[in-house]
Amino acid sequence: MTNAMKEQAAAWDQADVLSRFREEFYLPAGEIYLDGNSLGLLSKRAEKSVWEALSAWRERGIDGWIEGERPWFPFAERLGAMMAPLVGADAEEVMVTGSTTVNLHQMLATFYRPQGARTHILADVLNFPSDIYAIQSQLRLHGLDPAEHLLQVKSEDGHTLDEDAIIAAMSDEVAVVVLSAVLYRSGQLLDMERITQAARERGILIGWDLCHSIGAVPHRLSEWGVDFAFWCNYKYLNSGPGSVGGLFVHKRHHGRLPGLAGWFGSNKEVQFDMDHHFTPASDAGAYQIGTPHLLSAAPVYGSLELFREAGMEQIRRKSLSLTRFLMELVETELAGMGFSIVNPRADNRRGGHVALVHEEAVRIAHALKEAGVIPDFRAPNILRLAPVALYNSYTDVWEAVQRLKRIMVEKEYERFEKKRGVVA
Ligand SMILES: *Cc1c(COP(=O)(O)O)cnc(C)c1O
Repeated sequence: MTNAMKEQAAAWDQADVLSRFREEFYLPAGEIYLDGNSLGLLSKRAEKSVWEALSAWRERGIDGWIEGERPWFPFAERLGAMMAPLVGADAEEVMVTGSTTVNLHQMLATFYRPQGARTHILADVLNFPSDIYAIQSQLRLHGLDPAEHLLQVKSEDGHTLDEDAIIAAMSDEVAVVVLSAVLYRSGQLLDMERITQAARERGILIGWDLCHSIGAVPHRLSEWGVDFAFWCNYKYLNSGPGSVGGLFVHKRHHGRLPGLAGWFGSNKEVQFDMDHHFTPASDAGAYQIGTPHLLSAAPVYGSLELFREAGMEQIRRKSLSLTRFLMELVETELAGMGFSIVNPRADNRRGGHVALVHEEAVRIAHALKEAGVIPDFRAPNILRLAPVALYNSYTDVWEAVQRLKRIMVEKEYERFEKKRGVVA
């Protein structure tokens, strides 16, 4: 059984149309990296685009803004156009700027307009804390008490959300809905199309956090009629720690004043007139605030080249097949060892990682790391394993589960302290 699975993995690797992309990445020597959902690995392409940005600065100084192969002045717009296919949008609806949290602030500052009874923001109890903090502070800026005006959809099982419950919570008091496309712990993929449609039918604006879906799952934001979206580029997009994020604003909203205005949101034709009357860009460019963080935007260019070459549909197909294989191995190789899979099983309900609950998850994560498998731990008891389509193989998945099995059989995890690291 075990050997048949190993041979199967090798055969899939042989036939893998994306296998050549593995060589594009710096894989940590001797390790199986399964943490691309937290921080994607460096690619040679991203590295090259950082060096090119440095060369332009070294060789051109101030002229780098408008000269060279990738002038800095229109760089965010150029990256937005390259990223648009990943979210299913027109080029002018996407901008590479800010960060997840800053972009959510910008979106709420722009789109959250409490009026009459519609004063609530609807989110959920499973969302990432930063999103919730941003929502709470935006409510306070309007003089509203988050305890009353932030509604959070509950979770029955503590891991997933029920889409019917989300839709049922869309009352006449809700002004804006903010949800994650893929939940960061359980990896549940919500039905963005259905939920977006339900919000729109009720006159509610909807914004999606794509941190865990961008680069893992295809989107059709424009067609679905999503109002806004925001994300980071350092997880599945492999653009480096703290790299510049992204946002989407549907074209029907273009032409408004951004909630948080700054000179880089200007219409580019007049930006350098230095007029005190702000003329916003006519597209998603209006939501930029200040000077782009060029050195943190540069790697996004190289990363996006790889996505363009590989194709999002192929990436999703392989990702689903990797996570399906991983779940199968957990169920066969690790049966009776106390693991439960808490991500949804269906292909159209899960994102790019597998979430395992185990009461010894902290110590198992330490033992895995020592055994050369880089997992991700989320308190109190979740192991997230993300086999990434661009750089992980089926054999990686097979080997990682074998090492995990050894850790369980030999009880190797008992040597470690029940204490999580600072970051995970
Ligand atoms: C990773 C992540 C963030 C991180 O926000 P930053 O502003 O990029 O630090 C926020 N929300 C979600 C859902 C995430 O997964």
